[in-house]
Amino acid sequence: MTDLPDSTHRLPAGLPERIRHYVDGAFVDSVDGGTFDVLDPVTNETYVQAAAGQKADMDLAVAAARRAFDDGPWPRMLPRERSRVLHRIADLVESRDARLAELESFDSGLPITQALGQARRAAENFRFFADLVVAQSDGAFKVPGRQLNYVNRMPIGVAGLITPWNTPFMLESWKLAPALATGNTVVLKPAEFTPLSASLWAGIFEEAGVPAGVFNLVNGLGEEAGDALVRHPDVPLISFTGESRTGQTIFANAAPHLKGLSMELGGKSPAVVFADADLDAAVDATIFGVFSLNGERCTAGSRILVQRDVYDAFVERYAAQARRVKVGYPHDAATEVGALVHPEHFAKVMSYVELGKSEGRLVAGGGRPQGFETGNFVAPTVFADVDPRARIFQEEIFGPVVAITPFDTDDDAVALANDTAYGLAAYVWTNDLKRAHHVAGAIDAGMVWLNSNNVRDLRTPFGGVKASGLGHEGGYRSIDFYTHQQAVHITLGAVHNPTFGAS
Ligand code: NAD
Repeated sequence: MTDLPDSTHRLPAGLPERIRHYVDGAFVDSVDGGTFDVLDPVTNETYVQAAAGQKADMDLAVAAARRAFDDGPWPRMLPRERSRVLHRIADLVESRDARLAELESFDSGLPITQALGQARRAAENFRFFADLVVAQSDGAFKVPGRQLNYVNRMPIGVAGLITPWNTPFMLESWKLAPALATGNTVVLKPAEFTPLSASLWAGIFEEAGVPAGVFNLVNGLGEEAGDALVRHPDVPLISFTGESRTGQTIFANAAPHLKGLSMELGGKSPAVVFADADLDAAVDATIFGVFSLNGERCTAGSRILVQRDVYDAFVERYAAQARRVKVGYPHDAATEVGALVHPEHFAKVMSYVELGKSEGRLVAGGGRPQGFETGNFVAPTVFADVDPRARIFQEEIFGPVVAITPFDTDDDAVALANDTAYGLAAYVWTNDLKRAHHVAGAIDAGMVWLNSNNVRDLRTPFGGVKASGLGHEGGYRSIDFYTHQQAVHITLGAVHNPTFGAS
């Protein structure tokens, strides 16, 4: 570990000696003893080894989850009983938010204040689904005097959860909470860049009263541990969040088993700013929208489309404000952009920064920030006048890099907004009510925010269209994904059978 002074870097106390799997209520190493390196994004030095799961480890975890599903109490508990456990999980996450944020920020490079917000959101996800399963009611349909039809909602089995490294703990909670609330058992495969916070779930679940075998965790590389989970015949559901290309691979590998799939994939979301918008709010929101969470955010507004009448003024203000965004060490409460997660990702983002210099007009950033000669630090980078055919306009960069492009009419704005393979989120800034609703409806995106930053109500659908995803989660849609709905039909009156073979 590089010996940096405390003011520039902080090693959390009490780091584990090794990150292990958690199977059937116990921490275990890989069957073959294999490990992989986990790096500190500030120094890029290995700070811990994590167990590298293979098929044999996944087989053990799935078998434990299957036993807990077939023979254990969890799927058979009343929703109210599971709900109490989930509320205890939320309480524990809340009471440990500072520690969670410290570890998450250290492992992922996210600014500590933003990691704290994500820890609280993780608790909220558990609270929300704890309430939802108790409030849940299923349909009953009567044909008066003749027939009653009702719906039996049942957990499906072992849910395989595969998660990415951006806001890892919060995104894990987004899958764990509905999967567990509905009575499934789970195997979680967290991202290999950021395995630290995932192992905290084990202690939290034990303390909250989740029975052994209900939650299992296998660390490892996507192509090994993740792939073994996707191909496991005893895992009927895969909920995946990650890159669109990985989603395609998982889709193909799950096909022979006809698994239920939910996919939250990449994005290149537009923020459309009309000349009649509140420009102060639009500048603040679009700065936050692409530079928060280090720009490693699926719903980042990474393409800003600005109406020509205000284009020059917008670009000037935007660039000036982007230059003031504070890059710093992740543990520092004043930091607004921290360190990118991993040197491989840093190299990818930097390659786009270099490419952008030939594809647009660089007006802020463009490399490492001053004073950060090592580690994965990127200055908030703004390219103006970006042609829609440019790669920095089309491809997901997933870092603090934004492309700004002018437009003239509403139709131009919509055409530009839709001119990518992705369709996750969109942001529209205008004070014209009709235009706002018209443009929102015309953009191919799973989620649109009007005159708003990315603030989500947990009851609303979450998901993308085109290359950004498959299916929707959020609110009762998550409950639908993690449950089987069996229709039961009962005759009430005389049985109306056509008699075949009567004579
Ligand atoms: P990734 O696709 O590289 O990895 C995601 C997870 O999949 C990891 O756990 C990885 O180990 C696993 N994986 C990789 N290959 C696999 C395989 N062949 N079989 C099974 N599992 C495999 O994504 P990432 O780089 O960790 O995350 C960043 C991406 O996630 C971005 O594209 C971002 O937009 C997207 N994302 C989307 C949302 C959303 O809700 N739409 C949210 C967050 C992140």
